[in-house]
Amino acid sequence: ASKNERLGAEDYLRIEAVRKEFDGFVAVDDVSLKIRQGEIFALLGASGCGKSTLLRCLAGFEKPTRGRIVLDGQEMDGLPPYQRPINMMFQSYALFPHMTVEQNIAFGLKQDGMAKADVARKVEEMLALVQMGKYARRKPHQLSGGQQQRVALARSLAKGPKLLLLDEPMGALDKKLRSQMQLELVNIIERLGVTCVMVTHDQEEAMTMAHRIAIMDAGWIRQVGTPDEIYEQPNCRFTAEFIGSVNLLEGRIEDDEKDFITIRVPALEHLAYIGHGVTGFEGQEVALALRPEKIHVSKEEPAQPHNKARGSIEEIAYFGSHSVFHVRLPSGIRLMANMINSRRWASEQFTWNDQVWLSWDDEAGVVLTS
Ligand code: ATP
Repeated sequence: ASKNERLGAEDYLRIEAVRKEFDGFVAVDDVSLKIRQGEIFALLGASGCGKSTLLRCLAGFEKPTRGRIVLDGQEMDGLPPYQRPINMMFQSYALFPHMTVEQNIAFGLKQDGMAKADVARKVEEMLALVQMGKYARRKPHQLSGGQQQRVALARSLAKGPKLLLLDEPMGALDKKLRSQMQLELVNIIERLGVTCVMVTHDQEEAMTMAHRIAIMDAGWIRQVGTPDEIYEQPNCRFTAEFIGSVNLLEGRIEDDEKDFITIRVPALEHLAYIGHGVTGFEGQEVALALRPEKIHVSKEEPAQPHNKARGSIEEIAYFGSHSVFHVRLPSGIRLMANMINSRRWASEQFTWNDQVWLSWDDEAGVVLTS
């Protein structure tokens, strides 16, 4: 949250009921979002959910079927891409292959009629920003993927856009370089304070880079929130399953009292009890979402009368930092529970077919109604 306190105006970029149809097919379905000045905002969703189409509407490459886009008080409708104070960095970087690094960065500035000395100063400033000064005379094919990306970023930022659009910015990089570049990109964007909307299908990328994330599905925004809100407080089954791993237990609210509810989950022998300001009505069908790291594995039966289940270990998957236990309950369903491996003895005392108890805190689960 402290990271977000430095951000400016709440509604710097306003997307108001933007809809995009292609021959009657709804790719973006009345999306409304307010994005803060200086914010890095991620549109996250599976292939085909409409995230690129929305980004292209912002850039001006697509005209929304209806709805408005207002940036810093200025209506974008009717402005062609080159007249918008917006720049887009593509996954393929789209650097001009026959031009050097500095010519690539200078290109847009020259086109705008900037004086030669000013162009040179700006190019130098941008090269320093992305730490590519040494490579000014090289051509794109003489650069690594990460270096090409830095140049593409410098070129996108040279004109000082009010809005930077990133389309799968790490798409062309391998995994290790990706995580390094993610932090580097965030660092540069934050230093300049430029507002940024990025599109990605990679949840890790969205989580590490963005101040806030919108989860998109079939043209809809399912949830908007900070990375930890999205992870800790998913608002529906779709988001809970899309981000990270989750155990979803279907059940019914048995008892609804002030600040806590009791849920009967047919797959569990014991009642589940949730104790943090949730509301619902008796008999309501809900899902209890439990992240694997919230579930504790033990040999002994926990003293608590609720929030527990017994079962047998069917599989232990080792992930280095932690192991995931797959535990089959008598009802037939399988739950995942994580165990941190910082103390190897903790997971070493368990093996396949062991009878174990799973338990979790009153605060651990999230109740989902949709
Ligand atoms: P990806 O990650 O694969 O690019 P996406 O979430 O960005 O997916 P979009 O590219 O926005 O999805 O596409 C959303 C839907 O709109 C898809 O079903 C796509 O087939 C459709 N679509 C996109 N552009 C057009 C077009 N020009 N004409 C017709 N349909 C289109």
